[in-house]
Amino acid sequence: MKPFHSRTKIVATLGPASAKPDVLLSMFNAGLDVCRLNFSHGSQAVHQEVIDTIKSLNEKHDYNVGILADLQGPKIRIGMVKDGGIHLVNGNRTTITTKECIGNEERIYITYETFPQDVKAGEIILLDDGKLQLRVVETNLEDEVVCEVVHGGILTSRKGVNLPNTKVSIPSLTVEDRKNLDFVLENDVEWIGLSFVRNAEDIIELKDIIASRGKTAKVIAKIEKPEAIANIDAIIAASDAVMVARGDLGVEMPMEEVPLLQKMIVNKCRAASKPVIVATQMLESMITTPRPTRAEVNDVANSVLDGADAVMLSGETSVGEFPLIVIETMQKIIQNIEQNNYPFYADKYLKTSAETFLSDAVCDSAVFLAKQTKAVGIVCMTLSGYTAFEISSHRPDALIYIFTSNRTLLNSLSLVWGVQGFYYDKFESTDETIIDVNQFLKDKKLIKKGDVIINTAAIPMVRKGKTNMVKITTID
Ligand code: PGA
Ligand code: MN
Repeated sequence: MKPFHSRTKIVATLGPASAKPDVLLSMFNAGLDVCRLNFSHGSQAVHQEVIDTIKSLNEKHDYNVGILADLQGPKIRIGMVKDGGIHLVNGNRTTITTKECIGNEERIYITYETFPQDVKAGEIILLDDGKLQLRVVETNLEDEVVCEVVHGGILTSRKGVNLPNTKVSIPSLTVEDRKNLDFVLENDVEWIGLSFVRNAEDIIELKDIIASRGKTAKVIAKIEKPEAIANIDAIIAASDAVMVARGDLGVEMPMEEVPLLQKMIVNKCRAASKPVIVATQMLESMITTPRPTRAEVNDVANSVLDGADAVMLSGETSVGEFPLIVIETMQKIIQNIEQNNYPFYADKYLKTSAETFLSDAVCDSAVFLAKQTKAVGIVCMTLSGYTAFEISSHRPDALIYIFTSNRTLLNSLSLVWGVQGFYYDKFESTDETIIDVNQFLKDKKLIKKGDVIINTAAIPMVRKGKTNMVKITTID
């Protein structure tokens, strides 16, 4: 069993700095809950090695660390440019071409076949995280687009391109994504992230492929485009979880809008009982220094206060110098909020028209009872995981202990706020099972004599139906 650190979870991107077994184990023990593999970088062989390392650590230590495979989606890049980069000067013109070449000041290759057909004069092209900006002058509608440099600078090979005004016609799952999807489904990862989601259909298409392969991986919609913001309700409804991908979102949208967009997305996700990750540049300065800036500390703390299920690290843990110190630092910031002034038992509106209304009402009652009785734990049995997601969305102060015979679900739950999962497969009579799981928690020293806990169950047990029962127990 992994030591408990906080209700708010930590996702960390793995890379050369962190993928070694000893470093990774120390990060798990310091509070890392979900490992993110970024399929924008690295070969399948390298990812395979990392997946094997995570799985063997889980097995050896009886941990449930989850894996999030993050697919690149329709990310656009420029091609190679001449050695040392090229210098784009304000006011000069440069041509973007779909014919592969080594780029120079006059011609730059773009990995986007139909760019000249999709783009219109006047639209903005942002390069390298928005550091450089071009404006489209004209397109020949075939293979060349003439641009004017608005904000110049040095441009190096393979930098990302953002087109905030352009309706990009690249499919949401590229050929490369489909190959990587096959690979991650073979490896039974628990979470699959899709970048640059534009609408709910992007998610539905991905989920259909997963289901057609007989897999149960859950899907995370990365919100990083204006179209995704416009379709946010349908995207949340179609997804299993959401990521506020502030890196690209802050380039594609006016960056000053991102703080309120973050709060809007987090609130909608909690209302829909869907986990939400806040991502990117949370402790960016720690890539090269062992102490974060005060502003970064505030950003992590405020994301926790906003109600994120998880906060995410990218370069800090994949290529940074201090992967373990980064996890320890993030953990301390989270703990200080949770131990002092976290908005537990946040209001939640139940939709009476929802198909799940009756079990939602039972979960709501369990949370209400936990609050009234100052219970230390809410203990639930679930096969689908529904109860875990629903109880968590109420943000109870009581810890959420989930017992399930579904092993994949156990690792998936590592992303979910407040939840600790345990494997359990002896679902007999309700009375016996409740006595059994409570004794298990007592043996693990998670609860003690005199503690009040709330149990939920679906009775009769053998039917494995929806949660329909709440019980209060004082541990003796
Ligand atoms: P990325 O996504 O790191 O894959 O770009 C996260 C973000 O854009 O914030
Ligand atoms: Mn991104």
